[in-house]
Amino acid sequence: MSSLILRFRSKEGMHRINTTQSSNFQSIVNDLLPKLSNQNLEEIILSNNPNSNNESNSIKLSSILDKTVSELNLKNGDLLYITYLNNNEPTHSKQLDSIPINSTTTSTTNISTSHGPLTQIKQLPVDDELDKLDGMIQRPISSMCRHGPKGMCEYCSPLSPWDENYRKENSIKHISYHSYLNQQMTKFNKKELNSSYIAPLENPNYKIDLNCNEGHKPYPKGICSKCQPSPITLQLQKFRMVDHLEYSSHTILNEFINTWRNSGYQRFGYLYGRYEKFDKVPMGIKAVVEAIIEPPQNDEIDGLTLLNNSNWENDEKLIDSIASQLGIYKVGIVFTDLTDSGMGNGTVLCKRHKDSYFLTNLEIIMSGKFQISNPNKTKYSSNGEFSSKFITCVISGGINGEIEPRSYQVSNNGESLIKADLITGSTQPSQIFVNNSNDTRYVPDISFSKINEYGLEIKTNAKPTFPGEFLLVSLTDSFPLEPNPMFNSKSYIIENREFLGDINKDFQNLSTLYKYLKNQASDIFDFHFLIYIIKLRILNDDEARLLIDYIKTRDISKYNELINTGGWLSLITILEQSS
Ligand code: ZN
Ligand code: ZN
Repeated sequence: MSSLILRFRSKEGMHRINTTQSSNFQSIVNDLLPKLSNQNLEEIILSNNPNSNNESNSIKLSSILDKTVSELNLKNGDLLYITYLNNNEPTHSKQLDSIPINSTTTSTTNISTSHGPLTQIKQLPVDDELDKLDGMIQRPISSMCRHGPKGMCEYCSPLSPWDENYRKENSIKHISYHSYLNQQMTKFNKKELNSSYIAPLENPNYKIDLNCNEGHKPYPKGICSKCQPSPITLQLQKFRMVDHLEYSSHTILNEFINTWRNSGYQRFGYLYGRYEKFDKVPMGIKAVVEAIIEPPQNDEIDGLTLLNNSNWENDEKLIDSIASQLGIYKVGIVFTDLTDSGMGNGTVLCKRHKDSYFLTNLEIIMSGKFQISNPNKTKYSSNGEFSSKFITCVISGGINGEIEPRSYQVSNNGESLIKADLITGSTQPSQIFVNNSNDTRYVPDISFSKINEYGLEIKTNAKPTFPGEFLLVSLTDSFPLEPNPMFNSKSYIIENREFLGDINKDFQNLSTLYKYLKNQASDIFDFHFLIYIIKLRILNDDEARLLIDYIKTRDISKYNELINTGGWLSLITILEQSS
């Protein structure tokens, strides 16, 4: 069952109706009719041409109620025109088996222009950069070509960035976000059809409308086709918001994993970095991680708990603001799930694989919640948001017992299931439990569909549980061949490790800071150090900005200016006295 959108233009405006190929027109009329000023089906004329008096193109709405969308040969994004009959006018309509839709016939019409992309939305620089590209994949002249150097044929013409064969041939698991955006744009807004605009990206909404008053009492006392969420079919998401995760150096990850190496406890951190273009995938995006910040947490051998106290809330705001002055931001989370193999050779158990799980059900729900609170800003959805670029990276054992990072995102459907409170964890980590309906939650039919080895789509009821992998997309991971990390000095002590006690003897305090400054002199390009020193509030705002500027630009004159400021001199005095 593939869902699609039909557009109806009436004198009241443009109406978009979500439907499916197999839906009949009666179900569309149920959604459409309340939006029209004339609700007499006998008087509503539908046409694929704005000039409805042309009888060959128009049809009475009442005559096609039992026809399905596919029987009428309607496609996603198609535009139909509605006019009303006057009772005393003879009808021109006649029954048609299909309404032939041709986008070029509508291009000549002059419908009032509707809104376009939301230009006021501030996107990330990488999105603005990719927006300007068409992403067409250029191909050289091949041995199959039978034309001169200036000619072009099916073997050498450029491919669209979402081309299926190219994706498979290059072992790319998912098309990129911007390829998907371009594909949706082509689907909904044909270039020659500049009369109207449909936002090509929308988060699905699976929530029942608790305020619906379409002639019934609000849910749970009443329900209608308008407030009731439609059945959901879960499929592996074909696109991914981010294609690749890159740690800008091995050191970042090594220092993070050291907690486990030294204590056997698992660890959690926030990834700070930025999104950049990723050239290995058409129109791809990679996240480049420059630092891992570790929030307060209770770590254990088999898991951990985050301590979201008010201190951390304040720290997090400060860290985010320092990061933003450096041009970086949170791009995701990372956690370890490591168990020594006991073989004494440094290998770890491979626990996460295709026969167990990649992320557990609770991790999927946690990741989804992080994604929901870190939405992707885009001009191309009606509310300025679509899915998320927030990544979940888990450090665990690979097939050969090596410690390796693997990165995932929860699908757009998964985010919407979580938002509507339709899923929870189950006792089996690989399975997600579908909640039951209650007074504030209506759970529609949910199924998941898989293509089997014969290429056939197999649909299975998702209740009571379904495999979590249906909500995941995976990213590729790597380290750069020529590292050029933003923070490349010896790292100062990492925050919030006090609870680990004797294992990490050195904590962030004045005496360790003094030692660090004495050893490092001007070589202080480290995020943990920068945050700790600003948190002390001995430097004033200007001095703090100068320090951030120095770390960002590496301009030694800024350092020389800094060490002569009042704040810096007091800092050194305080450090000398305290040690
Ligand atoms: Zn050719
Ligand atoms: Zn209702």
